[in-house]
Amino acid sequence: MEDSAIPQKYIISIDLGGTKILASLVNSGEGILMSVKKSTKDKSLKGDYATLCAATIKELLASSGVNETSVKAVCLGIPGSVNPHTGIIGIAPNLNIRNYNIKEELGKQIPFPVLIENDVNLAALGIHKFEFSKTVKNMLVVFVGTGIGGGLVFDGKLYRGSSFFAGEMGHILVDKNGPVCGCGQKGCFEAIASRTAIVNNIVREIKSGKKSKLSKIVEAKEQIKSKALANAIAEGDKIAIKHTTSAAKVIGMMLASVNNLLNFDTIVLGGGLVEANEKFILPLIKESFDKFSLKSTAANTILAATRLGDNAAIFGGIPLAEEFLEIKI
Ligand SMILES: [Zn+2]
Repeated sequence: MEDSAIPQKYIISIDLGGTKILASLVNSGEGILMSVKKSTKDKSLKGDYATLCAATIKELLASSGVNETSVKAVCLGIPGSVNPHTGIIGIAPNLNIRNYNIKEELGKQIPFPVLIENDVNLAALGIHKFEFSKTVKNMLVVFVGTGIGGGLVFDGKLYRGSSFFAGEMGHILVDKNGPVCGCGQKGCFEAIASRTAIVNNIVREIKSGKKSKLSKIVEAKEQIKSKALANAIAEGDKIAIKHTTSAAKVIGMMLASVNNLLNFDTIVLGGGLVEANEKFILPLIKESFDKFSLKSTAANTILAATRLGDNAAIFGGIPLAEEFLEIKI
């Protein structure tokens, strides 16, 4: 076959998180060819994320056997505010970095163009292109986990805002007397309805003496993860059900408010909390969404969960490269 003589083109998508870095070789035709995961806690690197990325890329290429010349770009997903044009990370609290030009620093160490984007924006790009591209024009993507992040797609294009922080849904004010948020304000959406918020409420009740299937985890001073929460809900744990239900109601209310403003055709939910608890949480969110939506608007908006999971942002590197480098991957 003549086609097999044409070398395949790939990008390397990197998901840079607070505890781990995930790098994947990916293209539209083959999907994810290979991934390498590393801890970001390596002390010898002293938070030098460019060097860490470069080392991970090298390892990925060596173990995949893919030739350097087949790689057309490296796309970084960053949990924070980024300027995709300059390559500067403004603030990324989980990575403990501020005003850092990772595009320039990483560019010195690798022979590929470097592109960066906020991780939820990247997930929105991936979900739009690979799950909903045919029918969807105006889409909101919301990831609920440690925090709550959003990505906006209008007329099929990512909306980044005037200074690149559009989509920060987690910091919309819900209750000015609510719990303190990571951003310093009180009562933000994510301080009330993220997995972290649900877990904080559950831990408080357990510590005050209430019985729960999650008591053992709390007593062992371990973190309650989304999966453990899902198991407790499946076993009928009243405390887990109570706080997850109340968060789901707030999520539905918030989605309705934002949809009343922006009129999406599709709202896609993802992130650890939704992924592990979809059967329980999605109907509750939908019910609350319908209740707080303007009449008939909710009926025109599809509410769904993504099937791409953690790979949404990895796939998002493909449309990002296509947008900035005008290439087909
Ligand atoms: Zn906040």
